Amino acid sequence: MPYDADPARYEHLEYMRVGRSGLKLPPVSLGLWNNFGADRPLETQRAILRRAFDRGVTHFDLANNYGPPAGSAESNFGQIYAADLVPYRDELVLATKAGYFMHEGPYGEWGSRKYLLSSLDASLKRMGVEYVDIFYSHRPDPETPIEETMGALASAVQQGKALYVGISNYDRPEQLRAAVAALAEHKVPLLIHQPRYNMFDRHIEESGLLDALGELGVGSIAFSPLAQGLLTGRYLNGVPADSRAAEGRWISERNISETYLERARGLSAIAEARRQSLAQLALLWVLRQPQMTSALIGASSVAQLDDNLDALSAPPLTPEEIDAIEEFAVH
Ligand code: NDP
Repeated sequence: MPYDADPARYEHLEYMRVGRSGLKLPPVSLGLWNNFGADRPLETQRAILRRAFDRGVTHFDLANNYGPPAGSAESNFGQIYAADLVPYRDELVLATKAGYFMHEGPYGEWGSRKYLLSSLDASLKRMGVEYVDIFYSHRPDPETPIEETMGALASAVQQGKALYVGISNYDRPEQLRAAVAALAEHKVPLLIHQPRYNMFDRHIEESGLLDALGELGVGSIAFSPLAQGLLTGRYLNGVPADSRAAEGRWISERNISETYLERARGLSAIAEARRQSLAQLALLWVLRQPQMTSALIGASSVAQLDDNLDALSAPPLTPEEIDAIEEFAVH
């Protein structure tokens, strides 16, 4: 079936400015880390992407190594993009990253100029696009000077292969400041930081990273806002056979402990009182931070995507609800 995007797609969401840039993102964005590899039916992937765009989700987040196998999420996206999304290229914000292991040899991971720029070229080929909107350094490299890593990101912009640049997993405020300073030498602003942030992982509040992002005017997009599914109703009654924990790749049945279940049930009761799902509560909680431009979700089905996007039509959390959540949100 040929795809015509829903003409009402921009009537649903309020787009959020990324830091002090000119770019806006949807408050919920879609990541292609785990459900878009060669091990998932392409038609399901396609249905999720179509539905997301139809509901106003303009931002899709990828990386060179997403799959499995590494590279397959970008290739699958490329196929779906070619079939459905080419006419909408100017309406999409596409991101990719390099930093984690991609191939054997000394140039297959981390933060050298050699690796980052060759990886970006390979990503563009797999995705079938001429440029990405955001190119990220996926993780800090303790052995490469930050000037080299940021210089490579700046080159990507100067070469027209990326419009903006970002960093991910640079968890300490001083790493953020060093990245901003190194990019400034090239007159390239840092658009966005992509840290992990959810009710069960609050390191960015504690380290001062969140405050530094606000101070520097850098936007922020939280990955795994649902703690990979732990902050949803998925595991409240056992471990479903088709779930990420059953698969055991990134989380496993060991995560579904009694302590976890107590917390998840407590949070679920707060969500129920608001007539919401736990996933919806978890997303609004992440988005309560003014520095947080977007929550970057994963979804293995259209139903999950819909449930998550429906969070945005509910009223924001009250101070009393935020206080009640404190009892169960891990510090
Ligand atoms: P989430 O925390 O949103 O977890 C997604 C998983 O939660 C889904 O696969 C699904 O699990 C479950 N889920 C989602 N919505 C619902 C729902 N409404 N009800 C029940 N279960 C639900 O995010 P991810 O961990 O998948 O990460 C999201 C994105 O963040 C990635 O795709 C990637 O783009 C980015 N990311 C970046 C990283 C980085 O280092 N920069 C690291 C990790 C992620 P199931 O599959 O079991 O159905």
